[in-house]
Amino acid sequence: MIYLDHHATTPLDPDVLAAMLPMLTDHFANAGSVTHEAGRAVAEQLDRARHELASLMGAADDELVITSGATESNNLALFGACLHPRQKRRKIVSLVSEHKAVLDPLGRLELMGFEVVLLPVNDRTSETPGRVDLERLRSAIDDNTAIVSVMLANNEIGTIQPLREIAELCHARGSILHSDATQAVGRMPVNVDFLDVDLLSFSAHKFYGPKGVGGLYVRSRGRRVKLQGQIVGGGQQQNLRAGTLNSAGLVGMTTSLKKCYQLNTWRDRPTEVGEEQTRIAGLRNRLYAALQAGLSQIQLNGPKLQAPERPGSWTRLAGNLNLCFYPIEGQSLMLEIPGLAMSSGSACTSADPRPSHVLEAIGLSVEESRSSLRFGIGRFNTEHEIDAVAELLVAAAHKLRKLL
Ligand code: PMP
Repeated sequence: MIYLDHHATTPLDPDVLAAMLPMLTDHFANAGSVTHEAGRAVAEQLDRARHELASLMGAADDELVITSGATESNNLALFGACLHPRQKRRKIVSLVSEHKAVLDPLGRLELMGFEVVLLPVNDRTSETPGRVDLERLRSAIDDNTAIVSVMLANNEIGTIQPLREIAELCHARGSILHSDATQAVGRMPVNVDFLDVDLLSFSAHKFYGPKGVGGLYVRSRGRRVKLQGQIVGGGQQQNLRAGTLNSAGLVGMTTSLKKCYQLNTWRDRPTEVGEEQTRIAGLRNRLYAALQAGLSQIQLNGPKLQAPERPGSWTRLAGNLNLCFYPIEGQSLMLEIPGLAMSSGSACTSADPRPSHVLEAIGLSVEESRSSLRFGIGRFNTEHEIDAVAELLVAAAHKLRKLL
């Protein structure tokens, strides 16, 4: 199998597994068991892991809530901020192209009486498909806006939003800025102070860590965000997320993010793209070039592909490619090449027969959307694999075109 579906999930890095194993065997004690040495030793390890994770993101240790993943983090951010007893504002602003893990909580909040405004994004005729128009956003945020939720990077077309500028618009009105950064953390340097966000969601399985663990950054320095915990019980994590900490998960998540920062030397150069991501962008561009050479009619969905050697000005995730093969259906192409893992949209909605809401948001027709495929390139992919994939896709597309 050739795995090109890294937006759905990534393989566990062997170094991460090695760091997790002792936490599942010898160091099994509950970090809350302060009455014995074994518990205190685990608590110390977890404090260290939390500190390292926080410092990678530019956060303070007590600003991170460890959760089961980004879905839970988004739920905690949105319900937590809107349902806090001291929250008097009743409006929420977000984008049509957000992930379901944001859109569905917003649907619930709407049923509870909140006004939810979902803004459109730039369509495919613009320079930056998928980006929000800042003037439109500025006029949508008012003194009744409790929270603005804008993803840092899109999971289908890879669009990176100008979060720093968005933060300025939010804070001018006293609104909280939440960002679902699930696709960005580990793929670009994410620093909460540089981005000036108040709440930020992430998930370890998107950056070569284990599934079932993630986090929410909650700002307490300067503008303190008031959040109501959604899972209550034993009072852990300042009661923002009660429950015994997933110790192997936390250690694994920290190890995996640390490795991403090391491979890209992001610690020293926090605004650069980094070596690993540059290599991945090279593979992505190689795939696109080979497909363009072999197939006349393919169309790129989302922002234009940057040259890998041009860091700093990226508007699209390095490993993301989304292509329309119209009139060939994406589903038919996938069936032709069963040994190739790619997808027709978000993994979370792949059981849903409706066409992608993100592709619709940038102006694709239902037919074009059904003819589109998403590729996500990652750490362990090689040039050899990319060339093989291009060959397989070109042959399959030619075969299917003859049948039309
Ligand atoms: N948000 C985005 C943008 C995602 O891509 C995903 C994963 N598909 C999620 C949220 C949900 O993350 P998790 O699987 O950790 O709950």
